[in-house]
Amino acid sequence: MSSRAPEVVIVGAGLAGLACALDLTAAGRAVLLVEAEEEAGGRMRTDVVRGFRLDRGFQVFNTAYPQVKRRLELKSLRLRPFTSGFVLAGADGSRYLVDPTRHPGRAGDLLPGRVLSVRDLVALGLLGARDAALPAAVLKRAPEASAARALRRAGVSQRAVDEVLAPFLAGVFLEDRLETSSRMLHLVLRSMVRGTLCLPQDGIGAVPGQLAALLPRQALRFGVRVDRLTAQGAVLADGTELRARAVVVATGAAQAARLLPGLEVPAARGVTTFYHAAPVSPLREPTLVVDAGRQVLNTVVLSEVVPGFSPDRRALVSTSVLGTDADEVRVRRRVGELYGVDTAQWEPLAEYRIAEALPAAPAPLALSRGTRLSPGRYVCGDHRATASVQGALASGARAAREVAADLAASRW
Ligand SMILES: Cc1cc2nc3c(=O)[nH]c(=O)nc-3n(C[C@H](O)[C@H](O)[C@H](O)COP(=O)(O)OP(=O)(O)OC[C@H]3O[C@@H](n4cnc5c(N)ncnc54)[C@H](O)[C@@H]3O)c2cc1C
Repeated sequence: MSSRAPEVVIVGAGLAGLACALDLTAAGRAVLLVEAEEEAGGRMRTDVVRGFRLDRGFQVFNTAYPQVKRRLELKSLRLRPFTSGFVLAGADGSRYLVDPTRHPGRAGDLLPGRVLSVRDLVALGLLGARDAALPAAVLKRAPEASAARALRRAGVSQRAVDEVLAPFLAGVFLEDRLETSSRMLHLVLRSMVRGTLCLPQDGIGAVPGQLAALLPRQALRFGVRVDRLTAQGAVLADGTELRARAVVVATGAAQAARLLPGLEVPAARGVTTFYHAAPVSPLREPTLVVDAGRQVLNTVVLSEVVPGFSPDRRALVSTSVLGTDADEVRVRRRVGELYGVDTAQWEPLAEYRIAEALPAAPAPLALSRGTRLSPGRYVCGDHRATASVQGALASGARAAREVAADLAASRW
């Protein structure tokens, strides 16, 4: 915001609010972005606990998202890649299911019959190639079903769906029945094949941090919670009224429904991430381990991905579990089984129980919903698009376009 009064108040400095604020500022509009917390980023933030860098829930950064390419200066994020693929760990040992073009030395378990049949390998290869090659717009319009049904239709056997795909994708969709829309499945596969999964050197919070730094300092206020909206603008928790020609609600879904009664919002998917410090790294590589037994979703030695996430020689291990009521002792025991190590000496560092990690995205899924609700009132966020970094940024961009068009036309 310049010294002018804001024309637009945006509520929430997650990715959607940041994208909206940046685009409106670039369009010459006076914007005030208010954030309840003391930092931008929303669900994408990083804490430092006893010297360890802990993202608020395990997440990965994908370089292939169009909004990421458009907005972020990737070099200064100093990205560190994960192994492209994962280890499937179960009762009969661990198998590497990795991209053979990027990790040819690790591709032995892809030989037909070891984990997947010839038919499954061909079906999955064709599916990945097709999703990577087709324009996203085509995938977004394709006939829709559940992810489970789409995989079966692509020729993947029920066994491969149940024993390989569902355990892996549960960590992506945060649900293990594969009821998520097939459109989401295809977009996720597309971005995985085309991009690199990685983490910034300073943690996932560096992503929104870079965007927030691009805003004029006066355009962003922290520690400011919006209590309700009025015909003239918004009222803060301390009773102050912010007047503006337009208000954009860029909070998560549940908070948006509180500020905008009657707003239809999807159910939420919950996840818990446990962080442990281990005296010795249980796996000396940056590879995600997926639990074939589905007791946990996945586990990874994050200090193998970004050594700086640990302040010393101890390893930082992240483990995620569906829902919000998992027990740390049981989780640690299971992680020991997956890595084949004794975890008794592992030190619990933190646990993040996130009830509203992702909006549910079952079919039919509206991949990009309009943001204009009524004159001067807008809503954006990942719950209005795909449940992802790409979706949140794209929804914020859409809100900015719609607000800018309405302000220019002075519709009210
Ligand atoms: C554990 C986890 C793992 C994930 N993994 C991935 C992944 O691997 N890949 C991927 O693409 N996506 C992933 N996501 C999803 C991605 O992080 C989100 O889709 C995205 O960050 C949502 O951004 P948003 O701006 O829509 O909402 P949010 O990030 O929720 O931002 C909303 C903001 O509004 C603020 N706010 C709320 N109420 C008020 C109020 N009344 N007044 C002022 N401010 C308010 C909040 O404090 C918050 O900062 C993951 C999410 C989680 C939680």
